[in-house]
Amino acid sequence: MEHKLYIYNTLSRKKEQFIPLHDNKVGMYVCGPTVYGDAHLGHARPAITFDIVFRYLMHLGYKVRYVRNITDVGHLENDADSGEDKIGKKARLDQLEPMEVVQYYTNRYHKAMEALNVLPPSIEPHASGHIIEQIEFVQKIFDAGFAYESEGSVYFDVEKYNKTNNYGKLSGRNIEDMLEATRELDGQTEKRRSVDFALWKKASPEHIMHWKSPWSEGFPGWHLECSAMGTKYLGEEFDIHGGGMDLMFPHHECEIAQNKAGLGKDSVKYWMHNNMITINGQKMGKSLGNFINLEEFFTGNHALLTQPFSPMTVRFFILQAHYRSTVDFSSAALEASEKGLSRLMEGFSRLQKLTASATSSVETAGLRAKCEEAMCDDLNTPIVISYLFDALRAINLVHDGKETISAPDLEELNSVFKLFMEDILGLKAENEASSGNEAYKKAIDLLLNMRLEAKQNKDWATSDKIRNELTALGFEIKDTKDGFEWKI
Ligand code: ZN
Repeated sequence: MEHKLYIYNTLSRKKEQFIPLHDNKVGMYVCGPTVYGDAHLGHARPAITFDIVFRYLMHLGYKVRYVRNITDVGHLENDADSGEDKIGKKARLDQLEPMEVVQYYTNRYHKAMEALNVLPPSIEPHASGHIIEQIEFVQKIFDAGFAYESEGSVYFDVEKYNKTNNYGKLSGRNIEDMLEATRELDGQTEKRRSVDFALWKKASPEHIMHWKSPWSEGFPGWHLECSAMGTKYLGEEFDIHGGGMDLMFPHHECEIAQNKAGLGKDSVKYWMHNNMITINGQKMGKSLGNFINLEEFFTGNHALLTQPFSPMTVRFFILQAHYRSTVDFSSAALEASEKGLSRLMEGFSRLQKLTASATSSVETAGLRAKCEEAMCDDLNTPIVISYLFDALRAINLVHDGKETISAPDLEELNSVFKLFMEDILGLKAENEASSGNEAYKKAIDLLLNMRLEAKQNKDWATSDKIRNELTALGFEIKDTKDGFEWKI
């Protein structure tokens, strides 16, 4: 590989050079949504973060198998271990078959991801489609002596596991403290210890989704699906496991313990976690009334929003922060992002229309290397964006005729913008005026060229008619030294 990529490994708590386990092949697993409600910002951030990882690894020449699951069983209300199944509850409330709930929200999730220009993963396995693999995984942990059965449910024996392993090594939690804090509660439920987590739960009579197993008619614990599906599709050892920081404990900690107990090895080489999003400085939550789903952002239909924000504005906003920093959403911050993105898009579109001169008076040569360097430094998208903004100045000066650019420099600049804006950051023009709708663009250009001709022929009536009617339709037309510019 030409470029050395460094990523922050949550497990080692430092940046490490990325060296895949198998030559140029990379396996990446990212925890996907539990599909019982509409996708919101909490879903958008990991999806976009790992979309960038996926895109950049492919750009570096790796063949990436990207697995992102759909959780459609076993995620209980109270995190992982108690309460009702989130999907089962929604199905009961809406009087639907659980798989109707799953299909409905999966479709909506896909639609939102497509709008955000998030590439689909290579494999999107459903937990409910991998019950056999999960039962087999429980059996392996059982056989290795790290699980016990109680009243038809199977629990992971955390205390025993911790005697020979380090439970808490990812999240930094201290198991001794956890055991101490819960000692008086222990022995009161079917679990031996509060820290133990369910691998298999016996279904109560009202529980809708259940399967046969050696222990009971029941369902798998939430953490188990990622152990089972990750290793099924990526092998017992694979390169990257990602997700939001909120999943670090207990979900990912439990996954590490399950894999080590069941397979005898650590499955994941690099653990990556994106930071959280707050809204107006507050944690997002349904009870706080600041829970804005993506569709509400796109339509502006929420009390906390001053206007609609397009999917690309939301994407750009997320990319303006490093994935390990927190992001605070507010309408004002989004408005600023919208302006910034529109300037960048306008510059990109201007760049494509610039005419070359014999020599360059602007300096643009180092842009590609600087952008690659920023991406290789733990995917520093905000720095890449700042370099693109810097280049915008040169583009605008050339556009205004104050500076010149040579043909090779212009070609390179176009190529760098296309690579970083479109292929790596995944930013695309949204309104028809500058989008890929080529026929539409050409039709407007044709009309405006006819207007230019009319002006040259001093046919003011025709020239004004074209201008006024396009303006009435919402077009903004600007005369320039080379002809015209327009947007909608
Ligand atoms: Zn997971």
